[in-house]
Amino acid sequence: MNIHEYQAKALLREYGCPVSDGRVVLNASEAKTAAGELDGPLWVVKAQIHAGGRGKGSFKEAGAGEKGGVRLAKSVEEAAEQAKLMLGNTLVTHQTGPAGKQVNRIYIEDGSDISRELYLALLVDRGSSRISIVCSTEGGMDIEEVAESTPEKILNITIDPATGYLPYHGRRVAFSLGLEGGQVKQMVKLLGQLYSAFVEKDMEMLEINPLIVMEDGNLKVLDAKVGFDGNALYKHADIMSLRDETEEDSKELEASKYDLNYIALDGEIGCMVNGAGLAMATMDIIKLYGAEPANFLDVGGGATKEKVTEAFKIITSDKNVKGILVNIFGGIMRCDVIAEGVIAAVKEVGLQVPLVVRLEGTNVDLGKKIINESGLDVIAADNLSDGAEKIVKAVKG
Ligand code: GDP
Ligand code: MG
Repeated sequence: MNIHEYQAKALLREYGCPVSDGRVVLNASEAKTAAGELDGPLWVVKAQIHAGGRGKGSFKEAGAGEKGGVRLAKSVEEAAEQAKLMLGNTLVTHQTGPAGKQVNRIYIEDGSDISRELYLALLVDRGSSRISIVCSTEGGMDIEEVAESTPEKILNITIDPATGYLPYHGRRVAFSLGLEGGQVKQMVKLLGQLYSAFVEKDMEMLEINPLIVMEDGNLKVLDAKVGFDGNALYKHADIMSLRDETEEDSKELEASKYDLNYIALDGEIGCMVNGAGLAMATMDIIKLYGAEPANFLDVGGGATKEKVTEAFKIITSDKNVKGILVNIFGGIMRCDVIAEGVIAAVKEVGLQVPLVVRLEGTNVDLGKKIINESGLDVIAADNLSDGAEKIVKAVKG
C-alpha cells in the first residue's frame, strides 16, 4: 500500500527526520489560509498523487497551467492560485501512464533553498533478503536516467539483520555522497531514523528523492515516497487509516475485500485460477498463444462459492475483457465449488464474452456435470494448452 507524500513526511517527522512545515488542502478555498500559515518567502505547491515524476509531469487540462505538478510560488496569493489551478485536474507523469491521475489533494510547503539534490532510498532487496540502502549524488528528477546510463553513480549497501543499522553504514553513505563535517553526523542520525521507521512500520520502500543539502549546509527530506508491505498492514491500524482508496484500482480494492489475490493488467483475457504458480503459468500460456492476460487472479486454496462469485464479477467488470479462461486444478479446492461459483456469478451478471473452463482434480466429474447441466454456453477444455488455445481462438477468431 502506498501513501501520499504529505502523509509520509508526517510519519517521518514523528521519527525526528528534518522535513519542511506544510499544510494539505482538499479545497481551493482552503489554500490561501493554509499558505498564510507558512513563513515564506518561498512556497512549494505540490500535487499529491501516488506517483512520482510530478515535477516533470504535465496536466491534461489547459486550465491547469503550463507547469508540472510541483510549483514554486513567491507569495501566499500565488501559492493559493497554483493550488486552485491544479486541484481536480489530471496530472500525467512517466509513472501514471497516459491516463494520468486526478489531483484531489495539494500539499503547500515552506520552500527550501537548495544547494545539492541527493538520492536516498531504503528497500527490501529480494536478492540478498536484506534491507538495502541505495544512494546517489545525482538526486532529483533524473534518477531513472542516472540508473540507466551511469549506474556506477548509484551505491548499494545491504544491512545485516543481525546487527541492524550501525553508524558506520551512515558514515559510508555520507562519505560516498561527499558530505562533510556536521553533515556526516546528520546523515548518521537521519539514516538511523529512516531505518527505524522502515522496520517498525513494515515498509517495502522508502524513497527520498531528493534529499537536499540546503544553502545553509543542513540536510532536509524534500520528497518522500513510501510503500508498505500489504501482508503486514493488519499490525498497523495507524497506517491503514492513511489509505486513499481513490488512488487504487477499483477492481483490486474490491478483490482485497474478499481476500482474493488479484492484480489488474492490460490484456483482453480474464483469468480465474487457483494457486499463484498456476496463475502465472496460465498467463504465460495465454501469451504463448498470442493474446494478453487481463489480470492475475489466484482465488486461493480454500475459496468458497461466494469468493468465486465475487472473483468472476470482478473479472467481468473489466471492460477490456473479451474472453474468460477458468483454469482450476482442484487439490484442496474442489471443482464443484468453482462450478457453482461460476454459475452463480453468470446468473447475477450475465455472460457477454466467451468462457472456457478447464477443470481437473478433486470432484472434477461433479464440477463438469454442474456446468453441463447449467445450460451455460461454456467451452470445455481438457488441459492447460487446450484451454489457452480455445479462449484465444474464441476471442481472436
Ligand atoms: P517529483 O517530481 O514527483 O519527484 O517531486 P519532488 O518533490 O521531488 O519535486 C521535484 C523537484 O522540485 C525537486 O527535485 C526540486 O528540484 C524542486 N523542489 C521541490 N521542493 C522545492 C523547494 O522547497 N525549493 C526549491 N527550490 N525547489 C524545490
Ligand atoms: Mg521526487
